[in-house]
Amino acid sequence: MRVLRRGDVVGLPTETVYGLAADALDPAAVRRIFAIKGRPADNPLIVHLHTAQELERVVATTTPLARALAASFWPGPLTLVLDAGDAVPAVTTGGLRTVAVRVPDHPVAAALLAAVDRPLAAPSANRSGRPSPTTAQHVATDLGDDLEVVLDGGPCPVGVESTVVDARGDQPVVLREGSISREDLRSVVGIPSGMGATRRPVDLTASPGSRYRHYAPTCALEIVAPEGAAARAAELVDTGARVGLVASGPVPAGVHGVLRFVDAPELARLLYAALRDAELAEVDILVVESVPEVGVGRAVMDRLRRAAE
Ligand code: AMP
Ligand code: MG
Repeated sequence: MRVLRRGDVVGLPTETVYGLAADALDPAAVRRIFAIKGRPADNPLIVHLHTAQELERVVATTTPLARALAASFWPGPLTLVLDAGDAVPAVTTGGLRTVAVRVPDHPVAAALLAAVDRPLAAPSANRSGRPSPTTAQHVATDLGDDLEVVLDGGPCPVGVESTVVDARGDQPVVLREGSISREDLRSVVGIPSGMGATRRPVDLTASPGSRYRHYAPTCALEIVAPEGAAARAAELVDTGARVGLVASGPVPAGVHGVLRFVDAPELARLLYAALRDAELAEVDILVVESVPEVGVGRAVMDRLRRAAE
């Protein structure tokens, strides 16, 4: 708490991934986040609040849509983009007039937000270009030298970053897939199915972070349908490659089993750890079994495709 109040940064668990948190209203503190991560200055940060009641500290105006979504999904992994309030410095929003906000659903994050009583900017606590951290150990590995404090809240229960939604209009526009799915958004009263959240393609100019490649694995990554994943891994072994496999079934002889998962939510939770494990195991190519693009599966496939690019 004292660390944050003097404008420093801390490693913080949230339900999505570990964040690198600092006072969102203090430009110098926010600049420190960008410096530690090596994050491009035009890639805005998400501002974390203790409760929805604090929205007015950081936004200029709310909308009926934002209020409905907040009532349904906060605390939780849904980030709302709204017009920024005057108190939010330009460094936090990457120079935009809008600000991204959410209320995290994690006891450690909630306790810290309540104690500091300041909105906290908290992007993922990894060096830019590394997989997001989902354990305190991942944070220490990436940023240990730059951080005085990493709060250890155990492994993150969700494992992929929040869903980002532009909530300025009367329909939600999904800017980034996350564990709150389009189906979840549509289920909110007043949002007709087939509108906004489902049809509109991800707009890269509206979601600055989408311009950047999030994670460049040191190994090649191939996404394969469930029926073919193990066979593809075995085939690659025959070419002499060191092959890793992330799949729901058994691991063929000669293949390095990185992760065996049961469903998309489990893959979401363990995906980033698996990518780090594959790097540590020095595999040449990682074969990852695809999951159906429903619910959190859409976010998993989005992250996998970016990593495979
Ligand atoms: P991260 O903190 O790494 O999970 O990334 C946050 C992402 O949220 C950014 O990369 C943007 O894509 C998105 N974001 C943050 N602020 C805004 C904003 N004001 N408008 C649109 N998207 C935003
Ligand atoms: Mg990130």
